[in-house]
Amino acid sequence: APRRVSVQLSQSRYEVVIGSQLLTRAGALIAPVLPQPRCVIVTDETVASLHLATLQNSLTEVGVSHDAIVVPPGEASKSLRTWADLVDKLLAQKVDRHTTVIALGGGVVGDLAGFAAASTLRGLPFIQIPTTLLAQVDSSVGGKTGINSPHGKNLIGAFHQPIMVLADTSVLATLPPRERRSGYAEIVKAGLIADAAFYEWCEAHAPAMLDEDSHALAEAVERAVRFKAQVVGDDERETKTNNGRALLNLGHTFAHALEAETGYGQGLLHGEAVAVGLVLATHLSAALGHCPQEDTSRIAAHLRSAGLPTQIAQLPVERLLGHMKQDKKMRGGRLHFVLTRGIGQAFTSSDVPEEAVRATMLA
Ligand code: NAD
Ligand code: ZN
Repeated sequence: APRRVSVQLSQSRYEVVIGSQLLTRAGALIAPVLPQPRCVIVTDETVASLHLATLQNSLTEVGVSHDAIVVPPGEASKSLRTWADLVDKLLAQKVDRHTTVIALGGGVVGDLAGFAAASTLRGLPFIQIPTTLLAQVDSSVGGKTGINSPHGKNLIGAFHQPIMVLADTSVLATLPPRERRSGYAEIVKAGLIADAAFYEWCEAHAPAMLDEDSHALAEAVERAVRFKAQVVGDDERETKTNNGRALLNLGHTFAHALEAETGYGQGLLHGEAVAVGLVLATHLSAALGHCPQEDTSRIAAHLRSAGLPTQIAQLPVERLLGHMKQDKKMRGGRLHFVLTRGIGQAFTSSDVPEEAVRATMLA
C-alpha cells in the first residue's frame, strides 16, 4: 500500500501519496478527488517521451478524459512567454473551473503548471505528479507556484495548493544520476534542519537511496515530505518572521547567490548549490559560535560521499554578497540567514554581520 502524508492547511487539506509503481494506477488514485472527470496534463518533452503514455492510459482506464500540453524541458520554460502560451492553450481547450490541471514533471513543470492553474479562470484545481527527486521531496508540496522574471527567479507567482500530490519513486529510475543526487541534497537538508535522527539515518542509507527504487528511497521521500508538510501547515504563506517556512532556506542564501552567479540551470544544479550552501551555512554557524566546527566536516563528508560538491574554489565573494543583498528574502536591508546550533537544530537569524559571511566564503 502506498504511504500517505496529509498536508493540513487552515482552509483545506490534501494528501501526498508516495510509493513505487503509482503512475500505472494514477487514474484510480486521483479520480476520487477530481471535481469532474476531466483534466489537462502539463508536462515537458523529456518526461512526455518517458512517462506520459502511462499516465494517459491510467486515466482512460477509469473514464477520465484528458488532454496534454507539452512544453520544452528546462528552466527557460518558467517564463512569461511559456506561461502566456500555456494559459492560452488551456482556454482554447475550453477548460472550466472544475477541470483539473495535472503537472507531470520536475519542479519546472510543477511551478509553471501550478501558476497557470492559479491564474486561469482565477484558479483551476491542480494535481502534482512530481517526477524528479527534488520535486517529490520539496517543490511539489507547499503550494508555491511561479515563473521567473528578467528581474530574477520566481518573482512572479502565487500560492496555489494542489488537491493531491502523487510521488511515484519508480519514475525516478529514468532520472539522470546527477539530478537524483541533486534532489538528495534537499532530503539531507530536512534532517539538518530539524531531525538529527533522520540525518543519521541518511548517513546510513544514502547508497541505497541513490542507486535504486528501494524501500529506503520511499522511506526518505516520506520523511522529507512529512517534514515539509508540517512546516507548511504551520506557516502556509510564509508570514512568520522567525522559523516557520523560512527554515526551509537552510543553505539557500548561499545557494541562490551561487546559482545567480553561475546562471540558473547552467552551472550548478539547484541541489548541488544547496549542498555547497549547507556546508557554508554550518561553517558560518560555527564561526559565530553557534555549533561545533566538527559538524561542518561531518556534513561535508556525507554530501561528498553522495557525489555532491561541497566547496567551490575561488568563490567570487563580493559578487555573491551582491546577490545576497538582492535576494527577495532580504528584509530591511539586513542579511537573513538560517543558522544552526547543531545537526537538526536550525534557526533563523536576522542580523548576521556581513564580515562573518565574507570570512566564511574566503575560508
Ligand atoms: P526540472 O523540472 O528542470 O527537471 C530536471 C530535468 O529532469 C529536466 O530536464 C526534466 O525534463 C528531466 N526529468 C524530469 N523527470 C524525469 C524523469 N523521471 N526521468 C528523466 N528525466 C526527467 O528541475 P527540478 O530540479 O525538478 O526543479 C527545479 C525547479 O524547481 C526550479 O525552477 C526551482 O525554482 C523549483 N523549485 C520550486 C520549489 C517550490 O516550492 N515551488 C521548491 C524548490 C525548487
Ligand atoms: Zn531548495
